[in-house]
Amino acid sequence: MKIVLIGAPGSGKGTLAAGLERRFGLKHLSFGQIVRGVAKTNPRVKALIDGGNMIDDALAKEILTGRINQPDCQNGFILDGFPRSLAQAKMLKEIMEIDFAIYLKISESEVFRRLGNRLSCPNCNAVYSRQNYDQDVCKTCGAKLVVRADDTTETIKKRIEIFNANIKDLLKFYKNQLLEIDAEGTPDAVVQAASNLIMKE
Ligand SMILES: [Zn+2]
Repeated sequence: MKIVLIGAPGSGKGTLAAGLERRFGLKHLSFGQIVRGVAKTNPRVKALIDGGNMIDDALAKEILTGRINQPDCQNGFILDGFPRSLAQAKMLKEIMEIDFAIYLKISESEVFRRLGNRLSCPNCNAVYSRQNYDQDVCKTCGAKLVVRADDTTETIKKRIEIFNANIKDLLKFYKNQLLEIDAEGTPDAVVQAASNLIMKE
C-alpha cells in the first residue's frame, strides 16, 4: 500500500504518518528528512539546502526514486511532505502509482494556533506543542527543543499561501484515490479516522 499525505503546514502529516506506520507496517517517509539525509553525503544537495533553495523537481525525482526502491519500502510507504504541487504529483506518478492520497483538512486559524505553539526536536524530529508540553527538552532523546526557523508568523503565512495555491490542483489530480479526514481532532482520533477509511476501501 502506497499513501501520500496532503495537508497544510501544521495539519499533522508527520504525526498521522507515524501512526499509520505503526498500524499498517508501512514505512514512514518524510521528504524533508530524506533530503536532509542525502545532503550529508551529496555536496550538490547540501549546497542547495544550505543556500535556502528549493530542491528542483528533477532532483526530487532522483532522490525519491532512490529511496522508494529500498527494501524497507517493499510493504509500502506513507510519504509525508511530497507532493506539494501538481507538477510533483505527476512526477511521482511516473515513478509509481499511489493507492491513497489522504487530505488532512484544517482551518487556517488552527494552523496558526498550532504552528505558533510548535517546538521541534532538532535531533529526532519529534514535535511538541507549548499548549500541552511545558518542558524544553525532548522526552524521547533529551535534546533541547527549538522553534523551527520556518515556524515564525511571516513564514507561516508564506507557507499557507503556497499551500493554498496548490491544493485545488492536487485534490483534482488525486480525486480517484482521495480520502478526506478532519485534522482538527486529537492525534489518536485522526489516526483512527484515517485507518477506518483505508480499511473500508
Ligand atoms: Zn528528540
